Amino acid sequence: MKIVNNNSKVKEIISNVENKLNNNFGTTLEEATRDELYKAGAGCIRDDIMHLWTKSRKKTEDLGLKKLYYMSAEFLMGRAYSNNLINSGVFRDYKEAFEKMGIDFDDILDEESDPGLGNGGLGRLAACFLDSLSTLNLPAIGCGIRYEYGLFQQKIIDGSQVEVEDDWLRDGFVWEVERPELTMEVRFNGEIRENWTEDGLKIEHYNYHTVLAVPYDVPVMGYKTNAPATLRLWSAKSKQNFDLHSFNEGRYEKASADSEFAEVISKVLYPADDHMQGKLLRLKQFYFLTSATMQLMVKHHKGKRGDLHTLPEYAAVQINDTHPTLAIPELMRILMDEEGFGWEEAEDIVSQIFNYTNHTIMAEALECWDENMFKLLLPRIYQIICVMNQKYCERLRTYYPNDEAKIAYMAIIGNNQIRMANLCVAVCHRVNGVSQLHGDILKTNLFHDSYNIYPQKFLAITNGITHRRWLALANPELCDLIQDNVRGDLLGDYRLFEKIMPMADDAEFCRKYDAIKQRNKRRLAKYLKQKQGIEINPDSLIDVQCKRLHEYKRQLLKCLHIIYLYKQVKKNPDFLSKPITFIFGAKAAPGYQRAKEIIRLINSIGDMVNNDPATKDKMQVVFVENYSVSVAEVLIPAADISEQLSTAGLEASGTGNMKFMMNGALTLGTMDGANVEIFEQVGKENIFIFGATVDEINSMKQYRTYNPGTIFEQNPMIREVCNCLIAGELPRYGKRKYSDIYQSLLFGEHNIPDQYFVLYDLPSYVEEFEKVYDMYINHHDEWVKKAVINTAKSGFFSSDRTIEEYNEKIWNLPTYK
Ligand SMILES: *Cc1c(COP(=O)(O)O)cnc(C)c1O
Repeated sequence: MKIVNNNSKVKEIISNVENKLNNNFGTTLEEATRDELYKAGAGCIRDDIMHLWTKSRKKTEDLGLKKLYYMSAEFLMGRAYSNNLINSGVFRDYKEAFEKMGIDFDDILDEESDPGLGNGGLGRLAACFLDSLSTLNLPAIGCGIRYEYGLFQQKIIDGSQVEVEDDWLRDGFVWEVERPELTMEVRFNGEIRENWTEDGLKIEHYNYHTVLAVPYDVPVMGYKTNAPATLRLWSAKSKQNFDLHSFNEGRYEKASADSEFAEVISKVLYPADDHMQGKLLRLKQFYFLTSATMQLMVKHHKGKRGDLHTLPEYAAVQINDTHPTLAIPELMRILMDEEGFGWEEAEDIVSQIFNYTNHTIMAEALECWDENMFKLLLPRIYQIICVMNQKYCERLRTYYPNDEAKIAYMAIIGNNQIRMANLCVAVCHRVNGVSQLHGDILKTNLFHDSYNIYPQKFLAITNGITHRRWLALANPELCDLIQDNVRGDLLGDYRLFEKIMPMADDAEFCRKYDAIKQRNKRRLAKYLKQKQGIEINPDSLIDVQCKRLHEYKRQLLKCLHIIYLYKQVKKNPDFLSKPITFIFGAKAAPGYQRAKEIIRLINSIGDMVNNDPATKDKMQVVFVENYSVSVAEVLIPAADISEQLSTAGLEASGTGNMKFMMNGALTLGTMDGANVEIFEQVGKENIFIFGATVDEINSMKQYRTYNPGTIFEQNPMIREVCNCLIAGELPRYGKRKYSDIYQSLLFGEHNIPDQYFVLYDLPSYVEEFEKVYDMYINHHDEWVKKAVINTAKSGFFSSDRTIEEYNEKIWNLPTYK
């Protein structure tokens, strides 16, 4: 029963919203559009956050607290409004206020566009980290690029992915503050002259292009924080808005060329994930980001403290993957060319400040730049890297005196390429992997030779996710249930998750827990109906694989398994006693043909399965369009099964796996990345593991013992499933069969058939899925108990734990009080 509302907070919110509507939009509650209502409501909480932010930034400076610069080419933030309300502890009050005004609050939240300034896990990690840094009151600033267009929006038309531009800034972005007074100049191209003067060697850079870097700051409100973090996004602008002089002289093209050179830099986010392209514009973006950030960091420190030698006491820089690596030579340049430091002096500072997080060991993802392209665009940075390389190789020779092959392999420059990961390993104070397994692989494999020389440099810190967004915001009912059963404040203390362990044996708790899952499934069903016109059975088992589309993530393995089940149900109508809904969500990089082909395949399989009278009531395949943070927030809480199928050794950590676990989906996965640690947390009874281990995969590669052709010949199930790809039973979107995929499995590319071991792992996957299904159908109470245990053990995967570890082992930041 609802009692008449006396809550003064709610009244205050209503009055604030009305004032904002009047003052900022010249409208009233009755006449306002949804967009105006969103902006007025967001403006109210924004006022509170701004106040806290301004105050704490000043105090941080006055106290001279050390600060983290978290540099990343991507920040996949998701919507801010609901998150800011939750972290400010006023979500319920706002919801009630809007409802009192007769407005559906969910509709208002849905007005906000999702700033998609990232591709996938790497960008989302950066966003979770800012939330935790802010929550833990650690002074931090995230530095990135204000891409005018984020990652594309995905539509599925005739079974294929179609990319639509993501004009996320169209209606304005209410959370940012432009800071024109902090504009920096970034220089590209030109030539370098070395002048010997009375003060020694002076470097002169001339004939360069100047681009202005204008920062836009966004406050990141952590949970009950006193010190909101800052996300600083740099936008590129031409120095002369328009070159009137050239224009007047009739040189119209020159007049606009400059502004084009500049403004294209922050136009779009490159849509490739875990794949490196070596494009000039991308190099421009990275230098733009790193140069602006380093210049401002130096200027700021000089202004506050005077002496740049003390910089390492006041600043730590974390480089999220190699994208921002140019910050290293750029800081060398500033210290030497602009501040008069000698090489050793500059190097000493740089080697204390920078740390590097590696996110992948896959060769195609390791960043390399063509030396000639690099030299033209960044002539001075090129010189500095050449010297770094020379000195590094000399040092290596003292450790490996007779091994030039090893030194060539470890060098920063080789085969006319500049290798960013090697640069980071050469210079950085700490190099970390993102799960224990991945950290081990860095030591034994990718950076093995460097690890032998500098073992103290390498460490592993397992990724995490913020439980504010991924539990409180995405699954409020489950969050309340846990909170009701623990003492203390769950959102501020991830250690409390464990306290619900005993509830796994409490029938009443489990009943409530299961009922929440059922309601989340209904919420998803409603969402799919509304957004895509698709009806799903909310009482079915919901099996979800959502993440970027990549061959190593093996959406193809899931496809083959669905084909297998389809064939079984056709043969035996009783094969599945309860229906299953298979849900995929995945964007493919627009240039990644094989990935797009797999999307087409998923939709073909869906067409076949969903329309066949023999199977349509037993199985359904759904492809959810435009997988993004907002979609994930609806999808993950509804999942029963979390599909984590990467080829062992290739998923550095994964964070999707953690979101599912926290929301009570059971993992069906390989021993890869953080799956290994989920296994360790929950124990073997509460997770479903299949497939080859890293050691098994490595041994098959080393001794070339894997031959999918043999498996194909000997295993009739595999034969039947593979043949389906080319037999013509699948509806053929775009008139083509799936012979390329078939070929790649059996004959391969560059003579490596099935390089992701899909067919090798399929039999053990089929077997493990049967156990999953049996457990879900026939031992449902046990299933729910396992789900509760997963939630209870998910506290370890809160990014608060991750950030605490980074801070202890790498940054040593003080807490703002
Ligand atoms: C968490 C997340 C990812 C990462 O998922 P993985 O399964 O770890 O690859 C990618 N995209 C979005 C939108 C996410 O929220």
